[in-house]
Amino acid sequence: MKIVHTIADVQSCISGQKFEGKRIGFVPTMGNLHGGHLTLVKKAQELCDCVVVSIYVNPLQFGPNEDYDSYPRTLEQDCALLKEYSVGIVYAARTQEIYPEGSDSHTHISVDMLDGMHCGKSRPGFFRGIATVVTKLFNIVRPDVAVFGEKDFQQLAIIRKMVRDMCMPVDIVGAPIAREESGLAKSSRNGYLTKEEREEIAPCIFEILSDAKSVIQAGERDYDLIRRNAFAKLAQAGIKPDYFNISNTRTLLPASDNDDQLVILAAGHVGKARLIDNIHFSIDV
Ligand code: AMP
Repeated sequence: MKIVHTIADVQSCISGQKFEGKRIGFVPTMGNLHGGHLTLVKKAQELCDCVVVSIYVNPLQFGPNEDYDSYPRTLEQDCALLKEYSVGIVYAARTQEIYPEGSDSHTHISVDMLDGMHCGKSRPGFFRGIATVVTKLFNIVRPDVAVFGEKDFQQLAIIRKMVRDMCMPVDIVGAPIAREESGLAKSSRNGYLTKEEREEIAPCIFEILSDAKSVIQAGERDYDLIRRNAFAKLAQAGIKPDYFNISNTRTLLPASDNDDQLVILAAGHVGKARLIDNIHFSIDV
């Protein structure tokens, strides 16, 4: 496994692989890897001959009062894990090369249709930061396939749209959410939780999502009522709800009576962590 830090080095490793006719799979991450990231790696390995994992905490996607400084950086541990998984190349990018003139003056990519709702509403600039860095990483790595987690459902939708709209030559593949036994979606930010928050409180997000799904599948169509009930249940469980939205899977707009592919997206604060989760399913209309 090669661990590289510069654009020149990652491109030289990849061009060697491409020269041998290998298909390049790419998994962009912010590091502090867990089982969720590893399912993405496995998926990329199923589809490609050489997998590149990037590890980069992208300052552009963090707001002024968010956890950019405290975000867990565990490069050594991450590389040991990726080595066990026989990853070919780890690209641990550096800010001085990603944003040489600072992130504010950098060219930005915005997917306006999808980035103002859900997480984009509470975190202005978040998805612009993601779309910008992902574009840059795609241009550096030039992968055949890139794998993203459904855990970040809105992010996946934004990347898919960006790639489609801008004719980027990469196949985007989604991987299902990896969960802890309790149902809690795996996340680097789970590390901010106390034992009690992690075991007793945070898993309620998935429980409440699953309950809402069951209620809808049983025929309830008053989405506003379901949403209000879920907000109350989240608060009761000790979670400060941010949003709980029932949406069309493709447009991410509020679900209407004709929609048969639904996603429920939720976010809330548990102690020091802001957690997100979602569940998608079809219904008969
Ligand atoms: P991050 O390091 O949080 O930026 O995540 C990097 C990639 O891993 C993104 O595509 C995420 O959607 C994905 N990911 C994070 N957590 C999970 C999870 N629990 N299950 C599946 N994919 C995940």
